[in-house]
Amino acid sequence: MEEKEYPALEHIRRLLKDNVPPPLEGELVELPYFKEIHEELKGIREIMYSFSAGDFSPCIKVRGIIPGCMKALQSRLQHMIWQVQQVQNGDFSQKVEFLGEFSDAFNRMTAQLNSTLKALTNKEKALSALAENLRNEVNLRNSAMEALEKSESQFKYLASHDPLTGALNRRSFMEKASVELNNILLGVPCGIIMMDIDHFKNFNDSFGHLAGDEALRHAVRIIQSLLRKNDFLGRYGGEEFVFLFSRADETTGLAIVERVREAIEKNPVKLESGPVSITASFGLAMAEEYLQAQSLPDNYIETLINNADSALYEAKRSGRNRVACYKPKSIVY
Ligand code: GH3
Ligand code: MG
Ligand code: MG
Repeated sequence: MEEKEYPALEHIRRLLKDNVPPPLEGELVELPYFKEIHEELKGIREIMYSFSAGDFSPCIKVRGIIPGCMKALQSRLQHMIWQVQQVQNGDFSQKVEFLGEFSDAFNRMTAQLNSTLKALTNKEKALSALAENLRNEVNLRNSAMEALEKSESQFKYLASHDPLTGALNRRSFMEKASVELNNILLGVPCGIIMMDIDHFKNFNDSFGHLAGDEALRHAVRIIQSLLRKNDFLGRYGGEEFVFLFSRADETTGLAIVERVREAIEKNPVKLESGPVSITASFGLAMAEEYLQAQSLPDNYIETLINNADSALYEAKRSGRNRVACYKPKSIVY
C-alpha cells in the first residue's frame, strides 16, 4: 500500500504505532470526522502512557467505548489502591472483586492477615489475663508475707516480753544478759541490779490488785526512762525486776540505780483515788571478777543474779528504800 494513496489510513497507522503522534495537517484536516478520530486516538495514547507508567490519576476527557472502558478500569484500579491503603492501616476486611487471580490472592492474603490478627489479639488477651492473675497472685503472696512477718514479730515480742509491763520476760532477759556479759572478757565492765518493791503486799491489800498492776507498770516506765541505750530491764517475777547496765563501773552503776530509786520514791503512782507513793529496794552486783579473763564460768549470769539478790536482801533487812552493793565475802552499803 502506497502512503500517498491512503494518507488517512497511514496517519491512523502512525497514530497506533509511532512513539510520537504525527501532526494533523494538509488535506487530512478537511477530511470528515478525521480531526475527531485523530484527537480520540491521541487521547487514548496519552492515557495508556500514564497507565503503563503506573499513574492512574489522569482525567479522561475523550469519549467513546474505549475511553469509557479505560475510565472504568481507572476507577477500579484507584479503588484497589485505596483498598491496599486500608489494609496497610490495619483494615483486613477489604475484598477485591475483579482482576481474577490477583483478586483471589489478595483476598486470601487479607483473610490470612485477619485470622492472624485475631489469633494475636486473643493471645494478647490471654497473656494480659495471665499477667493480671500473676499480679494478683504476687499481691496476695506479698500481703500474706507481710501478715506473716507481722504476726511473727508480734509472736516474738509476746514470747520475749512480760505482757503486764512490757519489760523483757525472765527467760529473754537471761539470754540477752548472757550475751552482754561476754563483753567483760574484752574489758568492758557491767553490773546486774535486782529490785523489789517495798511492802507491796500492803499496797495490794490497801488499793487492790489492779492498782498494784498499775504500780508495776508505773515503776517500769520510770526505770525505762532512766536506763541508757544499752541497758535493759526484765521482770524477774512478781514485783521483782532485774536490770543490766553495761559499759559502766561500780560508781556509774550506783549512780544509775540511785537515780532510779529516787525517781520511784518521788513519783507517786496516780490512782483514781489519788497519788500513792511507793519505794523499792535494790541490790547491785558488778561483773568485775572476770574482766579480761579468758572465759566466763558456766551460768555466770545466775551467780551474778544471786549476788545481786543477796545485796537486795541486805537492802531490805537494813530498812528498805535503799541500794546495797554486793562485795565478795562481804556486803557494803
Ligand atoms: P517486801 O518489802 O519485803 O518486799 O514486802 P512485800 O510485801 O513486797 O513482800 P513480797 O515481795 O514477798 O510480796 C510480793 C507481792 O507482790 C505478793 C503479790 O501479791 C504481789 N504481786 C506479785 N505479782 C503481782 C502482780 O502481777 N500484780 C500485783 N498487783 N501484785 C503482784
Ligand atoms: Mg518480792
Ligand atoms: Mg516486795
